[in-house]
Amino acid sequence: MIELYPQSDPITADCPRCAGKEMPGTALFFQGPHVLGEHACTDCGLAFYATLPIGHAALFPVAFSRDGRFTHFDKKEGSWMALPLIRSVREATAVAAGMQLLQANPGGDLVVVNCLDGCFGHVFTKLWNVYLLQKKFPAKTLAVLLPSRFHWLLTDPTVEIWSVDLPLEELHKGVKGLDAWVRKQFARFRSVALSRVPVHPNPAALDLGEILQARPFDLEDFMRVPLQLTFVWRSDRFWLNSRLLALVDKASIKFGLQSWVRGILCYRQGRLLGRLRQKLREALPEARFYLTGLGKQGRLPAGWTDERVEQIDLEVERGWNEIHRQSHLVMGVHGSHMIIPTALAAGFVEILPRHKVRHLTEDIGRQHPGRMGQFLGRFVDEFSSPDLLAEHGVRMVKEFERVYAGWKGDVHEAM
Ligand SMILES: [Zn+2]
Repeated sequence: MIELYPQSDPITADCPRCAGKEMPGTALFFQGPHVLGEHACTDCGLAFYATLPIGHAALFPVAFSRDGRFTHFDKKEGSWMALPLIRSVREATAVAAGMQLLQANPGGDLVVVNCLDGCFGHVFTKLWNVYLLQKKFPAKTLAVLLPSRFHWLLTDPTVEIWSVDLPLEELHKGVKGLDAWVRKQFARFRSVALSRVPVHPNPAALDLGEILQARPFDLEDFMRVPLQLTFVWRSDRFWLNSRLLALVDKASIKFGLQSWVRGILCYRQGRLLGRLRQKLREALPEARFYLTGLGKQGRLPAGWTDERVEQIDLEVERGWNEIHRQSHLVMGVHGSHMIIPTALAAGFVEILPRHKVRHLTEDIGRQHPGRMGQFLGRFVDEFSSPDLLAEHGVRMVKEFERVYAGWKGDVHEAM
């Protein structure tokens, strides 16, 4: 945690112009997804901002002058986070948002968990910190800065919600008025600290079923309930199994031409799903097939129940949760959209793009212990065929009973 009041931890940053070391911060600024320190270099006189080590900024710190002329950040790994932040300050892009205090507490020692983020998966995993902090510091008062769409993920009425009513895709621009609003809230408390909001907390310590208000698939039911297999669709990241189309996809992202090629890529993904279903059905004729996820583009082959949407809301999330928690298997390309499906389904097969290998497991909500973890949690390369995916799926279903019996023996009758 970073203590702010009444004792304040020293906040320092290196100058992005002369690389002068550990320049002290004189003030804080709540930008939106980020909390910035305001610094003045004692060597070269540059006034600059630097991120506090909270959330992703702990992994990819950024320092930059107000006009954006001098910057320091990890250009290879951290540009996705640094560039929108620098732009938000340089061009003053902040968007006005309705802010609301919900479930207010009378006071006490406050810890603020900033879950403002433009990515749904990031909001969700940041929020896990609230539940972990509650266990660790039961006497503290927790407040969570949360996009208004996510209130439902916070089930504890003792946690304050600092709600920001802004679409996720606007948050990276910054939130106008947030800084003043947050400071006004601080006045109610004896002490104030900021959580460092680690972005990859271990979900094993959490009851995700409780957080999602949906009971995850119980392995005891695997052989009893109707067989259901689900693919989680995205219209901006694809399973293509084609080096040429993968190249087209990458080039379109680089040159901002995604809307031109999306139709072709969705069509290709739909074709692969057709083949996948056919192969799965040959071995598992009783299976039901569901498709969830964002984006309705792409003609689907017959046999998939299409539960995709263009716009997500609470009702959609709850409906998907029901589908995922009844799925023996969820499949999809790596990404934060897989966190909740993998938290609720019995098992998963994830298609892993090679540039995402370093992020393996970051989007997995639940991993079973021991060998069941490997058996029901599988990763395949981005150039995997429908036949290979189907083979994994079929083996997971057909061999489950045998592997489960052995695994239960290991767990309950350790010799
Ligand atoms: Zn300097």
